[in-house]
Order: sequence, then C-alpha cells, then structure tokens
Amino acid sequence: MSDIPKCPVCTSENTYFDGTMYICPDCGAEFMRDEQSEAGDNIPRDSNGAELMDGDSVTVIKDLKVKGSSMVIKRGTKVKSIRLTDVPEEVDCKIDGSSIVLKTCFLKK
Ligand SMILES: [Zn+2]
Repeated sequence: MSDIPKCPVCTSENTYFDGTMYICPDCGAEFMRDEQSEAGDNIPRDSNGAELMDGDSVTVIKDLKVKGSSMVIKRGTKVKSIRLTDVPEEVDCKIDGSSIVLKTCFLKK
C-alpha cells in the first residue's frame, strides 16, 4: 500500500505526490502532509517546556506514587535513559529495575 494521504478536502484516495506537494485530481486541492504540524503538537516536553528525547536523563520534581504499588519516587530522583511512548505526556523509564511510566510534567531535564 502507498502511504499517500487522502485528500483533506474531499477525502479522495486518488491523490498523488508531484514532488513538492500532494495533488487531488478530483477536487484540485493541493496539500502538504499534515504530519509535521501534528508532530509539532506531540513533542514530549518536560515541566520547563524543554523537548524530551529517547535516552535523556531527567529529574523528578515531585514525589510521585507509582500506580499499583507502594513505591514512591522521591522528588529529586534522577532518571536515566527515558524512552518516549506513543503518548507525548508520558515516558517510560526504569527505576530500581522496574519499568515505570512517568508524566513529563513532573520531570525536568
Ligand atoms: Zn480532493
């Protein structure tokens, strides 16, 4: 299957790429892939708005209870090598050998 996006105007699947943008022959619409603007909104950011990336080290800025356990991640805990998830507000990490999902708003690079 091709990964050419459907026309955003008429949802036709007859769209094609002309080298710079996508063209819809059915309604004449010209459009760019909207992935970029979406990605811009989905960038995981820490509490200061800094972009987070795979492998970043962060510090927890608040005592956090871990769901489903009695464990508490103390404020100031350093977390190494975070992993981004499909959800921009959450990152995976390992603390004391356990896999834990942290909210990015409680993290600081
Ligand atoms: Zn169209």
